[in-house]
Formats: sequence, C-alpha cells, structure tokens
Amino acid sequence: MQLPIPSLRPIDTPVPAEAASTEREQRRRKSLVFAVGILLLYGMDVLILGRTSLELLVTRVLWFTQLMTYIWLVWKLDERWYPMLATVNSVLTSAFFLSLIPFTGGIQSPYINLVPTVPMMMALVHPRHVGPVLGSGITTSLGVLGLLLATHDSVPHALGWASMVGSSAFFATYASAQLRKAQTAESAARLERARRESLEKLTVADRYRAQTEKLATVGRLAASVMHEINNPLAFVRSNLDFLRTEVLAQQLPDETRQELQEVMDETRTGVERIRQIVSDLKGFSRMDQEDPCECALADVVTDATRLAAVRLKHVAKLKVEVPAELPEVFATRRRLAQVLLNLLVNAGDALEEAKVQGGEVTVRGVAEGGKVTLMVEDNGPGIPPEVLPRIFDTFFTTKGPEKGTGLGLSISKELVERFGGTLRAENRPEGGARLCLELPVHVPTSPLPLGEGRGEGL
Ligand code: ADP
Repeated sequence: MQLPIPSLRPIDTPVPAEAASTEREQRRRKSLVFAVGILLLYGMDVLILGRTSLELLVTRVLWFTQLMTYIWLVWKLDERWYPMLATVNSVLTSAFFLSLIPFTGGIQSPYINLVPTVPMMMALVHPRHVGPVLGSGITTSLGVLGLLLATHDSVPHALGWASMVGSSAFFATYASAQLRKAQTAESAARLERARRESLEKLTVADRYRAQTEKLATVGRLAASVMHEINNPLAFVRSNLDFLRTEVLAQQLPDETRQELQEVMDETRTGVERIRQIVSDLKGFSRMDQEDPCECALADVVTDATRLAAVRLKHVAKLKVEVPAELPEVFATRRRLAQVLLNLLVNAGDALEEAKVQGGEVTVRGVAEGGKVTLMVEDNGPGIPPEVLPRIFDTFFTTKGPEKGTGLGLSISKELVERFGGTLRAENRPEGGARLCLELPVHVPTSPLPLGEGRGEGL
C-alpha cells in the first residue's frame, strides 16, 4: 500500500539572510524619518529664537546631509561595517545637537536640558551595539563641558553637567547591554526550540517511513499471495462447472439431484465470493500512481464497503444510504476508498472492542451547498473526550502496538485535504462516533464557445 509522506511544516524561524535584509530596511526607514525630523525641527528653532536663523538652518542642513550619507553608506556597505558606521554617526549626531546650543541662547538654550537624553536616544536607536552609546556619551560629556567652560561658567558647575551627562551615558550603556543579553538569551532559546522541533519531526518522519515501507512490503506480498490464490481458484471454478454438468447429467433420484444441485450452487457462490474478495484486494493494493479525476462517491462507497464487509461481518450490520445520483467530486477513487475503508474498519474495531451487541455501521451520503458529505456512523462507545482532540495526530492510537498504528486517520485527513476536502470526527448525541468526510462538488470546466479566445477580429 502506498502512503503519502506527511508534509513537514517548515520551522518558524526566519532565514538569516532574509532577516538581515529586513533589519537593514527597518534601519534605513528609521534613519530616514529621523533625518527628515531633524530638518523640520528648524521650525522649533525659529519658535525658540522668535526669528529665523541662517546659522541654525545651515547646521540642520549639514546634519541632514550627514544623516543621508550615513543611510547611503549603511545601504551600500557590507553588514560588518555597520557597528563602525553607527558609532561615527552617533558621535556626529551628538556633536550636531551640541552645536545647536550656542545659536539658541548658549547656557540659557532650552536644548541644553536635552543633552543628557542624547546617549539614551542612541541606546534606543542602536540597542544591539555598545559603540554608538559610548561614542555619544563621550562626545556629549566632553562637548557640554567645553561649551560651559567656553561661556565662562564655573568649573564645578560645568563638571557637574559633564558628569550628569556621563552618568546618563553609563546607564544607557548598561541598559542596552542588559537588553542585548536578554535578546541573545531569547534567540538562543528560540534556536533550541526550533532544533528540538526539527528533531521531533525527524523522528516522526523516520517512524513514518519505516511504517510506510512495512506496509508497502505487505502490499506487495499480498499481491503475490492473491496471484497464487487466483490460479488454483480458476481451475476449482472450471472443475466445479464440469462436475455440475456431469453430475446433473446422471440418472439420479429427484431428491438426491436437488440436494447435489444445492451443494454445487453453494460451493460456486463461495468460490465466486473468494474471487471477488481477491480481486478487490488486488485493486486496492495496486502501487501505481493514479491521477485525480471526476469520481462518483457511490462507486467509492461500493469499493470500500465490499472490502469492509469482510471485517464487519461478525461485528456489525453495515447499512449504506448513499444515493447513486450524488454529485461527482474531483479525487482519486482508490484513495477515497482507502479513506472510507479506514473509517469503516475503525468503526468495526470500536464495536468489537466494546463488545457491542447489535452493532450497526451506517454510511450516509448527502449533497448540500456545493459540498458532498459522507458520514460513517456507528453505535459503538464513541470517542472519549480526551481522545477526540488527538484523533488525527500521527501515531496516535488507543489500540496497542499489536493492533493499531495510529496512521489511519492522520493519513486519511491528509488525503482528503489534498482533494480540497475536510475530515472531522464527533460523537453522535444518541451514542457512537461519527466521522464526516466533506468534499467540494466537482464543477466541470465548460469548453470555450467556438471563436472565443482564438484571436478573432485581429
Ligand atoms: P489506529 O486505527 O491504528 O489506532 P487511527 O488513526 O485510524 O489509528 O485511529 C486513531 C484512534 O482514533 C483509534 O486508536 C481510536 O482510539 C480512535 N477512533 C477512530 N475511530 C473511532 C471510532 N469509530 N470510535 C471510537 N474511537 C475511534
């Protein structure tokens, strides 16, 4: 039996190259917003001074140009240059900020109160690098010291300002180092999670492959056994026919003739049944690929129930309520029969396990709203609430290693989804389980009307 390999979802971790380019793009956008902001804040300078100022305008244009050059370099140069570029940019940005102070009132400038926040801003903008915060801290501390001394401020006052800026730089550096540590720990944990997930998936895939190989071997073996059964069966049939003709040609008392005829007819029916089962099994275990096509569900049900009848015979009464005129679906007949057979065998197993007297399994088919639904219902014990959420998990079974593989429903679900359908399980209010297989109705694509799409009128 050929099984589809389960699709392994890719692990949800970004590809490093992609992540790097996204980060670059984000940096570029942030810096661009910052550069434009720097230029527009000239309006604030005018409000502070109460007049326009050429010096301030020139400072801001130079600052803007420096930021644009930085953006361009970050875009053009290799990633390993980024820490150095960011540090130089931080130093220059801090210097430009300080240079606003002499033009907006010197020691009285409102901008001087913002100086301690500059290294913190740099820590926010470059949380992953220490260089930019340090560069900005040193520039602003020394810069504010120089500025205050140049305006003949007292040395202790100037030193006080410089140390205040220095300590703000220190805390900013410390905070960004902590953030970096947390980020590193988080990404290590994410990597570990991804590694564990992929290991688990590999283990599942390995077990799956082993089971698939085993089932394929069993399928091939079954095919040769069926061939071996078919040959003797053929001559048993023809010998039986010969015996029937010969025996009935004899002069026999009516009662004996009647009895012999009944025995031969029964034997013929038995042989015919064996032939049918062998032929169904042979068709089912074929390994060749089959492309999906328009498929009548009534035929699928016939294929599956004929085989399932062998399993359900002593366990349950099988009822089929599937109208022959159900709309067609687009699928592979043999695959759908495999799904239905799984559901029927599971129902039989549940009834047998629970030793239900008067077991019944019903296959019902309905078409509604562009969908066709096949329901397999049983009057068994139903699916326990703790089992229901895991019923479609690969390798989940409650039947023990001898009997269950835990593959039936997971493979069935995957197969049905491949044909655009769904498979779900529920318990019936009156007791027992219900498995619903829903497939979209096949809408035949109508051929183009003559003349359409053939370049007429060109
Ligand atoms: P397996 O048949 O090898 O156990 P499946 O994937 O086919 O694997 O089924 C998974 C589990 O779902 C079964 O072990 C069983 O516990 C539960 N199950 C499936 N069908 C029914 C049903 N009709 N009634 C009760 N339980 C069911």
